[in-house]
Amino acid sequence: MIIGSHVSMSAPEFVLGSVKEALSYHETALMLYTGAPQNTKRKPVEELRVEEARALLSEHGIPMDHLIVHAPYIINPANSVKPEVMELARTFLIEETHRVKAIGASFLVLHPGSYTTTDPDTGIATEICQLNELEGELADHVVICLETMAGKGSEIGTSFEQLETILSSLTNPDRYGVCLDTCHINDAGYDVRDFDGVLDAFDERIGLNKLKVIHLNDSKNPKGARKDRHENIGFGTIGFDALHAVAVNKRVEAVPKILETPWVKGTAPYGIEIEMLETGVFEPERIKALGHE
Ligand code: FE
Ligand code: FE
Ligand code: ZN
Repeated sequence: MIIGSHVSMSAPEFVLGSVKEALSYHETALMLYTGAPQNTKRKPVEELRVEEARALLSEHGIPMDHLIVHAPYIINPANSVKPEVMELARTFLIEETHRVKAIGASFLVLHPGSYTTTDPDTGIATEICQLNELEGELADHVVICLETMAGKGSEIGTSFEQLETILSSLTNPDRYGVCLDTCHINDAGYDVRDFDGVLDAFDERIGLNKLKVIHLNDSKNPKGARKDRHENIGFGTIGFDALHAVAVNKRVEAVPKILETPWVKGTAPYGIEIEMLETGVFEPERIKALGHE
């Protein structure tokens, strides 16, 4: 099972610390932000202890494409309203792909963004235009994975149809893939409990070969709620059995699964959640022992 979680990336050990944290939860994949998720302040890659991180991953037999990078939330390539937001999306995305390449990773997860005060079609058209404008400046061999979104506020990328529209209009489709977030698609109205049905719909619109990363999260809200609040595995409306079925589904066996479930009273739940997903046995009392209601 290729499974890991969002891990921190901070001084003094930076990416080396991220790998150590992932190994402490017995992970075979991991996801990090190259700085704070909320802002675009970034340190030079040379300071991030990448060589040591790569050596440690290789020592544990974890390939570099199991290290996923997530772009910060404030990057919004669908915004056509504020010129400074449009400019930040352009400059940051170019630099970020070069950082991902320098780290040696392959996948950069990106929220497609929000149309703000316009409308979904304008947001989607802006997204296509923005991404195509970057072609030629992005680092090669880095695949930008557009994430499926929950539909809160004015988000785009909330259906496979919308993602298909974007992906089919990009001048270099090989540079793009999709990150499927189980909490987000639940909140957007898909039935994760019928994951094979979800994969069929995905395959029909986008193609399963485009699915590069799965975010494995439970949801605090019912299907279709358009909220985006993650819950610990087995404690939400999707439930343990459905999320375990995603984790062991043969059709996505080679796709890294990344947990972005909430910490419980200051403790990361990932080691326990991963063990439960690997054994297939839900032990809610172990999460409750951390202080979960
Ligand atoms: Fe995300
Ligand atoms: Fe996610
Ligand atoms: Zn989310």
